[in-house]
Amino acid sequence: MSMIVQKFGGTSLESAEKIHRAARRAIRAKLGGHRVVLVVSAMGKSTDQLLTLASAVCHDPPKRELDVLLTTGEQVSIALVAMAIHSAGHEAISLTATQLGLVTDSSHMRARIQRISRERIDRELEEGRIVIVAGFQGTDPGGEITTLGRGASDTTAAALAAVLGATVCEIYTDVDGVYTSDPRIVPQATKIDELAYDVMLEMAATGAGVMHSRAIEFGKKFHVPIHVRSSLTDAKGTMIMAETSGMEAISVQGVTLKEDLAVISLNAVPNHRGVAARIFAEIARNHVLVDDIVQNIYDHGKLANLGFSTNASDAAEAKTVCEKIATELGIGSVEVDEGVCKISAVGIGMRTHSGIASTMFEALSKADINIENISTSEIVISCIVRQDDGPEALRRLHTAFGLDAKSNGGEGA
Ligand code: ASP
Ligand code: MG
Repeated sequence: MSMIVQKFGGTSLESAEKIHRAARRAIRAKLGGHRVVLVVSAMGKSTDQLLTLASAVCHDPPKRELDVLLTTGEQVSIALVAMAIHSAGHEAISLTATQLGLVTDSSHMRARIQRISRERIDRELEEGRIVIVAGFQGTDPGGEITTLGRGASDTTAAALAAVLGATVCEIYTDVDGVYTSDPRIVPQATKIDELAYDVMLEMAATGAGVMHSRAIEFGKKFHVPIHVRSSLTDAKGTMIMAETSGMEAISVQGVTLKEDLAVISLNAVPNHRGVAARIFAEIARNHVLVDDIVQNIYDHGKLANLGFSTNASDAAEAKTVCEKIATELGIGSVEVDEGVCKISAVGIGMRTHSGIASTMFEALSKADINIENISTSEIVISCIVRQDDGPEALRRLHTAFGLDAKSNGGEGA
């Protein structure tokens, strides 16, 4: 009997009616002959509400207690979905991460999955039940409650799909798939039918909000197709899957915007062996996530400027860490620029098409937008621009790469 994992996000569970709708979908899959495991997020905006509540009672809440608090959101959902399935006359059981045996490391608020026991799930499925698992949460080896980072119910779902050998991991959400760009900013954006794991990974890493990156990594590593689709219709959404030969025909499949970034610049860094290693070891030790890194050498090779981008929310911590190392290593100064964002063009077709970078730079130049930093990898080109320029830059790139609905032109040579 084939196995399906279905994940429902917060907006797909925000009311009793929507909970029933999710329940019906699971029951339908079960009646269709599948074993069904559901992964659910907290209802509606409840995670945000819990965070607001936490900051109302404590200026800097301990991360351990935040995890204890935030996991209650998903616990509410699993119980209600199980009840909805019961009320429709079918058998279901809810499981928290602890009950299930989803073990993570001990890094509160950003824990990583270490192992998932399938014993309990298999037993419940064997009994003919639909199993409902709380997304986003884990338990560390000492039994402490952890969470996997905002939006990580997707990751729970994909990891479970991998462990259980599911034929597909369905992500039910309030949009009908993955779009060529954020439709709230780019009204001409269109739904993409099929995307390679690598393209989705890069789109997520560069700002596409629709899926959690680590979920796609699980899909890729364990060959689980991920179907992102609407919880309101039966229409096909976007299938995230292994690369097919036809995918290279399109040079750019999506353009993305990552807002609220900060660039940390270390000026007059002694250009010695081991300096970058020392700096980034300290940054990693403090769990600051580094995005792009740029270094250039000057003063006849004696000095370097070293800059990296990070989330604005990590900027203060990054600055503190860098200032400490700056004193130690005799680095000139540390500067933080918080008002920036990053726009990126992504596509596996970049491997075989040329002229993508020039199309991008030209489109920005025509829009009078200055590029502050450029970084490239095999299938991505990104530019750092001022935060205020981000939305317009995104629209211009969408048009320039021929992604606008019903458009066929604009592609660079
Ligand atoms: N409820 C969590 C959040 O809002 C996890 C998730 O929704 O995926 O981040
Ligand atoms: Mg989500």
